[in-house]
Amino acid sequence: QGTVLIVGAGHAGFQVAASLRQHGYGDRICLINDEAHLPYQRPPLSKAYLKGEGRPDSLMFRPDKFYRDQNIELIADRAAEIDRASRRLSLASGASLDYGHLVLATGARNRLLDIPNANLEDVRYLRILDESEVLRKRIAPGQRVVVIGAGFIGLEFAATARIKGLEVDVAELASRVMARAVTAEISDYFQERHTAAGIRIHLGVQATSIEADGAKVTGVSLSDGRHIPADLVVVGVGVLPNVELAAEAGLPVASGIIVDEQLLTSDPNISAIGDCALFASPRFGGSLRLESVQNATDHARCVAARLTGDAKTYDGLPWFWSDQADDKLQIAGLTTGYDQVVVRGDRAQRSFSAFCYKSGQLVGIESVNRASDHVFGRKVLGMKRSITPEQAADLSFDLKASLT
Ligand code: FAD
Repeated sequence: QGTVLIVGAGHAGFQVAASLRQHGYGDRICLINDEAHLPYQRPPLSKAYLKGEGRPDSLMFRPDKFYRDQNIELIADRAAEIDRASRRLSLASGASLDYGHLVLATGARNRLLDIPNANLEDVRYLRILDESEVLRKRIAPGQRVVVIGAGFIGLEFAATARIKGLEVDVAELASRVMARAVTAEISDYFQERHTAAGIRIHLGVQATSIEADGAKVTGVSLSDGRHIPADLVVVGVGVLPNVELAAEAGLPVASGIIVDEQLLTSDPNISAIGDCALFASPRFGGSLRLESVQNATDHARCVAARLTGDAKTYDGLPWFWSDQADDKLQIAGLTTGYDQVVVRGDRAQRSFSAFCYKSGQLVGIESVNRASDHVFGRKVLGMKRSITPEQAADLSFDLKASLT
C-alpha cells in the first residue's frame, strides 16, 4: 500500500494506526493530529474527568513512547487539501505528504447555537479536552448553569454539575430527554432521576437568546417567555460531521462522507471512518452515521484489516453507554424503528431494560444499571438471533442459557 496517512487522531484515527501495526503493517504510518495533545479518549470529558478525577495524562490512549516504539509518526498539523490525482495531502503548515492510502477520521464538531449573545465567553461547548478543562474549573458550588439540549452530553454535564453543587436548569426542544436516541421508558426514568436530584428540566422549549450584562452572561430566555438566570451556559445541541475536506476533493458526501460496506469512498485509495462516515450497512439495510466509540474503533479495525490483506464487509454491532450521576445506561443494537418495547426488571429498584422489537424481532436493548442484559444483548444481536417478547418480560427466563 505504501504510506498510510490518517487524518484525525481521535478514537478512529488512533485505532487504525495501532491496529495496522498489530496486523504487521510494515510501511510508513502518519497520524495527523490537529489537537495539542497526544490522542485521547473523549467519553470521560463529560464524566469522570469533568468531575475532577485524573489529570490529562489519564485520558491518553498511550504515552508518547508508544508512537516511537510502533514507528507511528504523529504529525501536529491540520490536513488542508487532498490532491487525489497525485495522491498528495497538503497540510495547513504548507508541508505536503504523499500517500498510498488515505484514511479520513475527521470526526465531528459541535453544532453552534445561533441566537443573540451565543458567542460570549460564558457560553461553552463540550467536545475536546481543552473545553472540558475550562468547564472543570468553572463548575463551582453556587454557580448557576443553564444547559441547552438534553441529549447524552447535556445530561451528563448537568448531572456532574449538580453533584458539584451548581444550580442546574436544562432546556430541551423535544418533549422528552434523549428523545432521538432512547425509548420513552428510558427518557422517563432519567427525567425523574435528574429532577429528584434537583435539576430543573424544561421540555418543549427553545432558547431564544442569551441575556448578558456586558460580556457577562446573566441568563437565558426561552420560547415560552420565561427567563432563567445563569452565570454559565453549556450547549449540547448535536454535532456536524467534518466532511469538508472530502467534499472539496470531489468525494461524495451527504450527512457524512459516503463509504461502501468496506468503508471505502468512491476513490479506492481513500477510506472514511468513525463519526464522519456515512456507511452502507447490510446488517441494517441502509446507510448509517453513528457517533460512538464502538463505531469508531470497529471501523478502524475493519480498515486496518483490509489494508493488511483481510478485506471484509463491516458488520460491527452498535453499542453505547452513558453515565449520568450514579446511573449507567447501556445500549446494544440500534433502538430505532421499533414497534414494541418490553420492560425487563424493576424500574423502582433502578435496574431494568427496555427490549425493543421490530416485527417480533429483537433489534436493541437499552439497560439501566443492568450490565448482564447489555452483555446478553451484544451477544444475541451479534449472533443475529432473538428471543420472544414474552421471554424478555419473564424474569425466570434465563437469558444466558438461551445463547447456548
Ligand atoms: P473524533 O474523536 O472527533 O476525532 C476526530 C479528530 O479529527 C479530532 O481530533 C479533530 O480535531 C480531528 N480533525 C478534524 N479535521 C481535521 C483535519 N482537517 N486535520 C487534522 N485533524 C482533523 N461515545 C460512546 O460510545 N460513549 C460515551 O460515553 C461517549 N461520551 C462522549 C462524551 C463526550 C463529551 C463526547 C464529545 C463524545 C462522547 N462519545 C461517546 C462519542 C465518541 O467520543 C465519538 O463517537 C468518538 O470520539 C468518534 O471518534 P472519531 O475518531 O470518529 O472522531
